[in-house]
Amino acid sequence: MSLDEIDPTAPPSGEGCAECDAHGGWWVHLRRCAVCGHVGCCDTSPAQHATLHFRETGHRYVRSFEPGEDWFWDYVAQEDFSGPALAPPQCRPETQPVPGPAGRVPADWRELIH
Ligand SMILES: [Zn+2]
Ligand SMILES: [Zn+2]
Repeated sequence: MSLDEIDPTAPPSGEGCAECDAHGGWWVHLRRCAVCGHVGCCDTSPAQHATLHFRETGHRYVRSFEPGEDWFWDYVAQEDFSGPALAPPQCRPETQPVPGPAGRVPADWRELIH
């Protein structure tokens, strides 16, 4: 583990999953890449863009982008850890529902999650 890869100055890429926002998708929870700031959806979400971002870039550290959560996850070691303070905002808007975002979650979402 080399926490030097973490960039505490990188702001989050947005308020929602970058790829889902680009394609009209939806998510359950959000993860923030601690290396570049990319915001992606969690493994429970249909598209699992946070893990996909790790596979495509090798950026191994993410932090929860959910309100009140500050845990980090190391995809390579498969363990959580305590990391440094990151650039604001610390989480998605608290008004955003779970799953979210509002208006894009289908009625049968429970059958579509992992
Ligand atoms: Zn996504
Ligand atoms: Zn990244």
